Amino acid sequence: MQEATASNLTQSSAPAPGAIIRAEKVEKYYTQPSQNRIQVISATDLSILPGEILALLGPSGSGKSTMLRMLTGLSTPTAGKVLWHEAPIAGAETNVSIVFQSFALFPWLTVLENVEAPLQARGVDQEERHARSMKMLDTVGLDGFEAAYPKELSGGMKQRVGFARALVVEPEVLFMDEPFSALDVLTAENLRSELLELWAKKTMPTKAVFLVTHNIEEAVLLADRIVVLGRNPGHIRTDFRVQLAHPRDRKSEAFTQLVDYIYKVLTRPDVVPAEAPDQQAEPRPRDQRQMHYQMLPHARPGGVAGLLELLLDKGGRDDIYHLADDLAFEIDDLLPIVDAAQLLGFLKVEEGDAAITPSGTEFANSEILRQKELFRDAAVENVLLLRQIRRALDAKSDHTVPEDFFLDMLDEQFSEEESLRQMETAVTWGRYAELFDFDASRRRFVLPDAAEEEIAEKNDGDAHNSEDGE
Ligand code: ADP
Ligand code: MG
Repeated sequence: MQEATASNLTQSSAPAPGAIIRAEKVEKYYTQPSQNRIQVISATDLSILPGEILALLGPSGSGKSTMLRMLTGLSTPTAGKVLWHEAPIAGAETNVSIVFQSFALFPWLTVLENVEAPLQARGVDQEERHARSMKMLDTVGLDGFEAAYPKELSGGMKQRVGFARALVVEPEVLFMDEPFSALDVLTAENLRSELLELWAKKTMPTKAVFLVTHNIEEAVLLADRIVVLGRNPGHIRTDFRVQLAHPRDRKSEAFTQLVDYIYKVLTRPDVVPAEAPDQQAEPRPRDQRQMHYQMLPHARPGGVAGLLELLLDKGGRDDIYHLADDLAFEIDDLLPIVDAAQLLGFLKVEEGDAAITPSGTEFANSEILRQKELFRDAAVENVLLLRQIRRALDAKSDHTVPEDFFLDMLDEQFSEEESLRQMETAVTWGRYAELFDFDASRRRFVLPDAAEEEIAEKNDGDAHNSEDGE
């Protein structure tokens, strides 16, 4: 098929010559029981190219599974089309397999029968079925388990069966929907490296892997290309190549920079993502990249306190995704809180874990009044905008400053809408920390009552002080 005009796309992924599967402006709507139509994916172009492991990363509910189902042909887009080697997928001879988080094995079939099942469905005869399945079980480290039933296997073993069943049909594209999410950390890590090994050896005829995940590090560890989805409705936020050599070192500067970059993209759904960091060149010094004002994450101080207390309960360190699960939070509701705590110096994010700092520990262990003091100190020390507001109030004789004064400065750095949101967050934090108050009717910052009194006392001189002493 010839394309007459190059479409004007904001994403770097399309149009892609030689794509195995190509989604063109696909959209998906679901009809709610109330008859409301909800858009889950907005017009999106996405191609799967030969030779790549493509990771689709995004918060839960951003439409990753929906996108996967449309690309495999399991689900039909409401608008747009999916092409398989440039032919409409409906009529095409697709050869794909899917590995699911939930393993999706037949409990009444043995391991061997589970792996044979897709071959049987494709009409492969008994003898060949058996031979291919046994070979594949061997490849994924399951020889000796062919007669076992799924319920006798650990999660990791079950997922090996999942891989064997997917690979036995020699799919051109291997699709995986959060295949490691249900496994414990070590098992997941083992299976990831084994998958990479299989892929690198090129023993399987599979030409591309499409991996859905919400785990940033997993994506950076495995993928040649990462596409990050945002939600409401699902859309591509950024799409970039990962050029780090294998085996990838989670502790390397380039790795953590990429994780950091993606983390920022995910935490700031309103900000147009910057380009992915250049993975060849020397990293630029931090202060050159940093904006003058930090972006205040839109989180409440109470949320920060709650997170730190939970973290302390868990021994001071935990995986951010575990924390989100424990709190029954969506990850992108939790991330601004994590970001806020980090900005204040109460925690550090390391390799996907949130680790509480000594000042965070003190905060979590304190009574509420002391927490306010600690928050105030941390805010003044770490947050330029809050420091500036308080300084200006202290410096002016009437101890009030119009909001516009700071908005004008913020506007140079943020969109008008974001500046207003920054201001709102600054007010919430400033009030909580009793750094300042905001008089909404006059749109002016003012000193909080306690601070006013303190200053009044100072100005009134010693007479008052001697009275106070009684
Ligand atoms: P993800 O895999 O990124 O977590 P999904 O693709 O599963 O996201 O879902 C995206 C959105 O679409 C969610 O809000 C989900 O509730 C909704 N959704 C998914 N499948 C259906 C369906 N069959 N009917 C109605 N809504 C659905
Ligand atoms: Mg999903």
